Amino acid sequence: MSLVENVNQNGESNAASERSSDTAGAIGAVRDELSALLGKLKAAQRSSGAPDCSARIEHLDKLERAVLARKHDIATAISADFGNRSRHETLVAEVMVVVNEIRHARAHLHEWMETDSRDVSWMFLPARAEVVMQPLGVIGIVSAWNYPMQLALTPLVGVLAAGNRAIIKPSELAPNTADILKELIGETFAADHVAVVTGGLDVAEAFSHLPFDHLVFTGSTRLGKIVMRAAAENLVPVTLELGGKSPAIVGDGYGVAQAAQKIMFGKCFNAGQTCIAPDYVLLPKDRADAFVKECRAAFQSMYPTLANNPDYTAIVNDRHFARLQSYLANARDRGATIIELNPASEVLDPKARKMAPALILNAPGDCLVLEEEIFGPILPIVPYESLGEAIAYVNDRPRPLALYFFEHSRSCIDQVLRDTISGGVSINDTMLHIAQTDLPFGGVGPSGMGHYHAREGFEAFTKKKPVFYQSRINSAGLLRPPYGSQANFILKFLVGR
Ligand code: NAD
Repeated sequence: MSLVENVNQNGESNAASERSSDTAGAIGAVRDELSALLGKLKAAQRSSGAPDCSARIEHLDKLERAVLARKHDIATAISADFGNRSRHETLVAEVMVVVNEIRHARAHLHEWMETDSRDVSWMFLPARAEVVMQPLGVIGIVSAWNYPMQLALTPLVGVLAAGNRAIIKPSELAPNTADILKELIGETFAADHVAVVTGGLDVAEAFSHLPFDHLVFTGSTRLGKIVMRAAAENLVPVTLELGGKSPAIVGDGYGVAQAAQKIMFGKCFNAGQTCIAPDYVLLPKDRADAFVKECRAAFQSMYPTLANNPDYTAIVNDRHFARLQSYLANARDRGATIIELNPASEVLDPKARKMAPALILNAPGDCLVLEEEIFGPILPIVPYESLGEAIAYVNDRPRPLALYFFEHSRSCIDQVLRDTISGGVSINDTMLHIAQTDLPFGGVGPSGMGHYHAREGFEAFTKKKPVFYQSRINSAGLLRPPYGSQANFILKFLVGR
């Protein structure tokens, strides 16, 4: 069985319709094929050893050149996958983010790779100790569809910088991008250096069971648990980049207009299909009317029209479109107020999956929009009376991937930073912490584990190997059996009676 199979627009693999006739043999064949591929990369890693700094820089250079050379193909492929994806959003979030990450890694690689000399305690002198940076081996990367290039290639930057090899399994929900990724990687790297395997859920599932030296998974919290369970069979260490509900808290001391502008930008970029999009807003109780008015104005100035506006991205497929509509219907049924932002009052064809953003007021706490990760252009507004109450609201829920706080008061900022925990934070803006090449990225608890990006990306795929060098002349023999008066004397000196 080939690891390339067709997927329909909703990401159901053609295997799904044939699943009933799928034999255990066919699934076994996928596993065998993946195992053989992993074996090939592991053998190549063993025979060629760890690449030196200049070889790694060459790998990063090649990746940068390939991404830049194919940037328009990437934008076209992603747009085909989404129905419409803003070209600018692709160039910023898929191309620029990856290229910046490469440039940062290249500039710092020498320093990151350096052996780290450590102290030895006086009793072991004149021995010495150091920590050696060693590639882990072959890394598996499973990526999500919402930023299908960035989420496959940013982990790869850390993997290559750390001197490893990789196999990537891109999401079946972005098949055009998966094809471009496969071509781009095939043209750039030897088949036993970096490989891409495409396919449906059967391939993804088999992939997560492979004995990689490390597995990076980007996707939902629900699947993160399944992947971690599969990796545990082989004690494969995992980096889990998951999702959740990221709050934006508007403080008393921050202008509503500016907050609305920045929150609407974060919510509408990629039509809200961003893991760190502000999911909901915590707003001082008396500011709801002003905030709604400013959100409307901010959205209108960014997107005066929707249907034929190339800047406004579509929802990726019918299943996700229906999911978002069901959240709205649920909120409506539960008595919430829904304010649709549709500046030109267009009739939007559901087949095109352009969804007008909706602000939601007065939603009961157990509404879907307040319980599920939204991952689309819906913004519930939750009123609060005191900052302490807003903080408690966040802390009563699973730890988010991102948190946004709009405030000028340093003491309020310190309070939020101290009293909440999240994967990352942007103060007085949304999402920009992910664009900082010197900051790590990763969730906490249900929003993920481990970090990548920046130095932490290099470290995630590096074994920090502690090495002790005994000296020719040393005192180790003084504490060997048979233990007698000499050992007693030394121990009395070291640890007392
Ligand atoms: P998903 O969990 O449905 O799928 C993610 C990937 O898992 C896909 O590539 C899929 O092929 C693969 N997969 C499916 N079944 C599998 C299995 N049994 N074993 C192994 N892999 C399997 O997520 P999605 O819909 O692609 O992405 C949306 C979710 O991802 C959201 O929750 C979002 O917040 C999260 N996300 C997180 C980040 C981050 O950096 N933390 C980035 C993007 C998206």
